[in-house]
Amino acid sequence: MNQINHFIGGETTAASTRQAPVYNPATGQQTGTVSLATAQETEQAIAVAKAAFPAWAETSPLNRARVLFKFRAILEERMDELARVISAEHGKVFEDARGEIIRGMEVVEFATGIPHLLRGDMTEQVGRGVDAWSLNQPLGVVAGISPFNFPAMVPMWMWPVAIACGNTFVMKPSEKDPSAPMLVAQWLKEAGLPDGVFNVINGDKEAVDVLLTHPDVQAISFVGSTPIAEYIYSTGSAHGKRVQALGGAKNHMVVMPDADLDMTVNALMGAAYGSAGERCMAISVAVAVGDEVADKLVAQLAEKTRQLKIGNGAEKGLDMGPLVTKEHRAKVLGYIEQGVKEGATLVVDGRDLKVSGHEEGYFVGGTLFDHVTKDMTIYQEEIFGPVLCVVRVPDYVSAVKLINAHEYGNGTAIFTRSGGVARQFVHDIQVGMVGVNVPIPVPMAFHSFGGWKRSLFGSNHVHGMEGVKFYTKRKAVTARWPDGDIGAEFVMPTMS
Ligand code: NAD
Repeated sequence: MNQINHFIGGETTAASTRQAPVYNPATGQQTGTVSLATAQETEQAIAVAKAAFPAWAETSPLNRARVLFKFRAILEERMDELARVISAEHGKVFEDARGEIIRGMEVVEFATGIPHLLRGDMTEQVGRGVDAWSLNQPLGVVAGISPFNFPAMVPMWMWPVAIACGNTFVMKPSEKDPSAPMLVAQWLKEAGLPDGVFNVINGDKEAVDVLLTHPDVQAISFVGSTPIAEYIYSTGSAHGKRVQALGGAKNHMVVMPDADLDMTVNALMGAAYGSAGERCMAISVAVAVGDEVADKLVAQLAEKTRQLKIGNGAEKGLDMGPLVTKEHRAKVLGYIEQGVKEGATLVVDGRDLKVSGHEEGYFVGGTLFDHVTKDMTIYQEEIFGPVLCVVRVPDYVSAVKLINAHEYGNGTAIFTRSGGVARQFVHDIQVGMVGVNVPIPVPMAFHSFGGWKRSLFGSNHVHGMEGVKFYTKRKAVTARWPDGDIGAEFVMPTMS
């Protein structure tokens, strides 16, 4: 049994008074116990991060970046170790866990170049003998709160950028799969990160509420479900903090009649069922334009969905693993039940899947619904499981209208051979991240990630330039060095 505590000031702490179980979702067995930080323990982590801030902020940007270079080397060398930890607590297949680490590592790579992005601007001689410039400085202690579905990558959307900019960090991972960030904390220490710059507190609402209200926390980055994102945004903002809170999603893929159907079906399979649908960029709605394409699409999807290889993510050659918890499995099964009740056509039913040797695992098979309509619960709500809904629309305009009316606006895609239609879609669609013949358009680290509408609260997306902006404050300086007294000025200075 693993005992997972906190990492504060470069040390693993003792266990907290409150604890929660951690499971292997493939077996249903408890594998560990995680400490849930008390308010006092959270305050201690903030105090340690605050104490570490002045020296870290004074460290030159290049020397800060050099720690990240070393960390990156460690991460690459030990990637399989981290991937095994992720797979064992989250359930996703090993290769998919490696994929999430690589996408996280790309943000570390981006952050090693942040010295270049911290440069300010300068204008000489804005007035006679007067120069003006702007500079970017770190905020202080900043905090990250992350969801269960990417226990390594989502924290890496946040902390590499924050600490490269000179901030110190308190990370609050998901209590469902807490081990990955603890390993990362150890490796950062090995890479030479001074104690107290990166801290991990495990826990739940009790810890989060301290982070949201504590006067020494300057900014909060959150990724998780929309109701919690909204709570984080309103509470953190009300306490004077910068907040970026990324929420849930319902991502649609439009399939135009001229799309390459084989390519589209393969893209949909990976995007809908990869990681058992537990991705904020998973495609959960296929919007088929016209019945002819819909009939062909559903027939091909049904065949492939029945052939999905599902099992313990630690084993090789699988397409997907189990869901994260028993409760989440029950919730997904409830949605499938609801879909049937509300009149959708259940083409492939994943409810009765049994994985031999893993009878207690939290598995749900690939599930496919056809004739889903916009008033159904399975269309409106985020299911976050291996359930793909096909909605049929008569034309392109109806597809765009449907997507733009949805409360979420995280990701979307269009599959077509027409450049003109694709261009129009990019222009028309009210969604933050758009793919053209790309099913999961997750932006690279040097661009920024974020949705629109109720998929993001706050004005900054994560990583890329938006991340640098979020974790720095700008100072504008106007200076002169006159030879003597220049007299009193009672009118507004105009630099003439
Ligand atoms: P969640 O909202 O339940 O939990 C996220 C974090 O908030 C966890 O650290 C959790 O401990 C904390 N939390 C939970 N309840 C809280 C409360 N009442 N008060 C304070 N803190 C609380 O999300 P989850 O189930 O871990 O993750 C899945 C969700 O995350 C999905 O909705 C998915 O779409 C979303 N997600 C979004 C993105 C994105 O980029 N937009 C990325 C990944 C996941």
